[in-house]
Amino acid sequence: MSRYWSDIVRSLTPYVPGEQPRLPNLVKLNTNENPYGPSPKVLEALRGETGDSLRLYPDPNADRLKEAVAAYYGVTPRHVFVGNGSDEVLAHVFLGLLKHKRPLLFPDITYSFYPVYCGLYGVDCRTVPLTETFEIRPEDYLVPNGGIIFPNPNAPTGRVLPLAGIEKMLAANQDAVVVVDEAYVDFGGETAIPLVARYPNLLVVQTLSKSRSLAGLRVGFAVGHPDLIEALERVKNSFNSYPLDRLAIAGAVAAMEDRTHFETTRQAVIKSREALVRDLAALGFEVLPSAANFVFARHPKRDAGELAAALRQRSIIVRHFRQPRIEQFLRITVGTDAQCQELIRALRVILG
Ligand SMILES: *Cc1c(COP(=O)(O)O)cnc(C)c1O
Repeated sequence: MSRYWSDIVRSLTPYVPGEQPRLPNLVKLNTNENPYGPSPKVLEALRGETGDSLRLYPDPNADRLKEAVAAYYGVTPRHVFVGNGSDEVLAHVFLGLLKHKRPLLFPDITYSFYPVYCGLYGVDCRTVPLTETFEIRPEDYLVPNGGIIFPNPNAPTGRVLPLAGIEKMLAANQDAVVVVDEAYVDFGGETAIPLVARYPNLLVVQTLSKSRSLAGLRVGFAVGHPDLIEALERVKNSFNSYPLDRLAIAGAVAAMEDRTHFETTRQAVIKSREALVRDLAALGFEVLPSAANFVFARHPKRDAGELAAALRQRSIIVRHFRQPRIEQFLRITVGTDAQCQELIRALRVILG
């Protein structure tokens, strides 16, 4: 604390990202990164941008990337907004579309950045409890609100809400925006983007960090009615004209265009997840059904914090949230089969 701080800075409770330790031979299953590298075509595109052109500013509108996303999803570039990771896209969404007199609604167990943005931008919010089985029940959101946001599949539970449930919320909530954060949708969910054509109050947010293996490049996007996109452009152009650099634009375009690499790696992750779920269940874990690249599991006889600490001693890191309702769960990223097997071997020893 310093006397030079503004009141807003004093009041903030910043987000705490999963740690990125620089230890050799670490089995890093704590931040839902993709265990496979990005497409070789992405690397080639990045190399193509490392020259004299870096002298020049990038395209402030990243039109090539908007076109690539639009082509992938069969919408127009006017339906697409792009930003420096979906976290930045989400930040603009909170300020531009979710800050109203009525409270924003989101689940009690969800992406922990949402309450942080509410604190930063002064957005009034209410949490809506997930069911006993950690599901989002659309009926619980049919109350007056200034907006709704949730990840689908949800984080850190991995549970997915079928599109029919999302449509129920959209139809009953036409005076406010419903934001679906699809960071993990490619690992087992169904995207809500086709509903954009019928619901001007739907905004879908996605990232290239997980299913396209580009967490280090920082690219995210949103798809919605052009009126919603215009709000985000107004915020963006009042904040940073060039959120995506030349490398990010070139790499992200190549990633959206290389469907083969995307399909192969995402299917590999899904297959490894299924094996991991089976192996954890065989060790006595209760595992929530996951449609993401992580699983959320608890052991009925062992404390989750102690399990996480014991794994760490063996150079395996997973995520543990000290938070009501989920303090006995571990969130484990799906790694390669070899990494998952290393985790299972360690757990077998720890559990005795
Ligand atoms: C990972 C994640 C994001 C952020 O992704 P970036 O594009 O890397 O900023 C957003 N929402 C959820 C739910 C996530 O898990």
